[in-house]
Amino acid sequence: MTSGKSCGVCKVVGILVGIGALNWGLLAFFQLDLVAKLLGDMTGPAKAVYGAIGIAGALKLISLVKCCPACSKGSCGTK
Ligand SMILES: [Zn+2]
Repeated sequence: MTSGKSCGVCKVVGILVGIGALNWGLLAFFQLDLVAKLLGDMTGPAKAVYGAIGIAGALKLISLVKCCPACSKGSCGTK
């Protein structure tokens, strides 16, 4: 039985938000922007990662007040 577990979409969103948060933490404490370090400073791929994290952050905020469409089909939307 599926018991209140988040769906794949929510997991990916959570992972991306986590990566973004870690990256900011590294930047604050060690002046290390891991995304820029790995992918280059504001290159196409780096921008794609930042963009994906931004979108994930927005989805995460929305999911605080509203279940994601994938979830509402499953556990958290019912009842
Ligand atoms: Zn979900």
